[in-house]
Amino acid sequence: LNSSNGNNSSLLKIPTIKYNKLFINGDFVDSLSGATFETIDPRTEEVIARISEGAKEDIDIAVKAAREAFDSGPWPRMSGEARGKIMMKFAELIDENIEELAALDAIDAGKLYYIAKVMEIPGAISILRYYAGAADKIHGEVLKSHGQFHAYTLMEPIGVVGHIIPWNAPSSIFFTKVAPSLAVGCTMVLKPAEQTPLSALFYAHLAKLAGIPNGVLNVVPGFGPTAGAAISSHMDIDAVSFTGSVEVGREIMQAAAKSNLKHVSLELGGKSPLIIFDDADVDKAADLALLGILANKGEVCCASSRVFVQEGIYDQVEKKLVEKAKAWIVGDPFDPKSQQGPQADRNQLEKILSYIEHGKREGATLLTGGRRLGSEGYYIEPTIFSNVKEDMLIATDEIFGPVMALMKFKTIEEAIKSANNTRYGLAAGIVTKDMDIANTVSRSIRAGIIWINCYLALGSDFPFGGYKMSGIGRDSGLEALHKYLQVKSVVTPIYNSPW
Ligand code: ADP
Repeated sequence: LNSSNGNNSSLLKIPTIKYNKLFINGDFVDSLSGATFETIDPRTEEVIARISEGAKEDIDIAVKAAREAFDSGPWPRMSGEARGKIMMKFAELIDENIEELAALDAIDAGKLYYIAKVMEIPGAISILRYYAGAADKIHGEVLKSHGQFHAYTLMEPIGVVGHIIPWNAPSSIFFTKVAPSLAVGCTMVLKPAEQTPLSALFYAHLAKLAGIPNGVLNVVPGFGPTAGAAISSHMDIDAVSFTGSVEVGREIMQAAAKSNLKHVSLELGGKSPLIIFDDADVDKAADLALLGILANKGEVCCASSRVFVQEGIYDQVEKKLVEKAKAWIVGDPFDPKSQQGPQADRNQLEKILSYIEHGKREGATLLTGGRRLGSEGYYIEPTIFSNVKEDMLIATDEIFGPVMALMKFKTIEEAIKSANNTRYGLAAGIVTKDMDIANTVSRSIRAGIIWINCYLALGSDFPFGGYKMSGIGRDSGLEALHKYLQVKSVVTPIYNSPW
């Protein structure tokens, strides 16, 4: 490790765990079975805390509470302005507790503390404020105001929503799901990932403090096949919103189909291309490519895991990438010098290392990295492969780790074809000063977000989601509100219309 790992002064920042139970109907409660599970610190592999383990029967109770809050509670009935005000208060409370929340994500998910504190959690707060501001701007439209009929649409909250979220961005994905559904007046049951329940439970506590009524936001930690499946197959949940892997996305869609045909939105994986053209500034392009694959240790659904470089500057870019990757600092997420913390859990560590072995066996050239760092904690070296063929596993599969597949191209047509040669379609990046190239490529790539001369630039107002097997529906932006709304047409005849 380039910097300190674990047992140093950073431990002083580790908060005591205050919330480790299920949050149902406004109270922290034990699971019915009394079962608990461990959440592990990826820096040390030690147990941080034991968390109540929700299962089907707990989800049932949480759904009942959410149903009651929807059918007869104040939340869907109050004005959008009133909901927005409470959401603003919620945002303020997060701000007041930001250091503790950032520390929770650092010990639970291996996130860089500083990034969590100055970027991710402030980003989550922005998401909450964005939708708080949208809460009183949700309305239908007049369809016919003349002729024989007066007709209009009403936008109604869809009902009880189930949110199932992953472990790579516990704070921002929590609010990406919760904020728009709160804004429209839905009630909900959220299952955080079993790897990262800590900040979600803290947010539940703050929601109550902010004045979100009991039963509106229930948080039930537990495992996928039990608590998660109970959400996707529940007969009384109206919509499920999921972020995670394609495999689990499929299961959720099947469970929804087999139960009550609840609405399904899926934000799944990616194998996103970053295309660097000959006119690019080599240094800046290398920085973007590394940011795209190493930010959050590559545990990012829109990571730039395939980097295509035009032949004229290929050698220079390759050299720069290796130089910079070797200097990249992997270490304790509390150390301000660290640029990359540990992978979120042991499964991830092993999965990534096995993909790296695959890459070597398939004949790609390992330019740098490729090994686990140290023997304690789930740290992996920034890894770059060159001579990657498009059909190699490291070029087709989402690795979800700090592993870049570097490839060379000649023409713009070839770049577009290769970039689209994937079952995914979440994001893409283009580095060029030529607007014609940028415009042509943006329109030709089948992906939900295109970054020109930037990467990972996300905003609460940018719709985010996938083409192809990267998903269904859009999170973020006003677009996301529609996942949680039903549209009702209301038609009435006009007798003796003067028009
Ligand atoms: P993994 O952790 O293997 O990468 P995902 O990232 O897809 O899997 O998991 C994201 C979320 O989906 C987690 O909250 C997890 O508990 C949940 N999950 C896993 N399996 C299922 C399932 N069969 N049904 C519903 N949710 C599930």
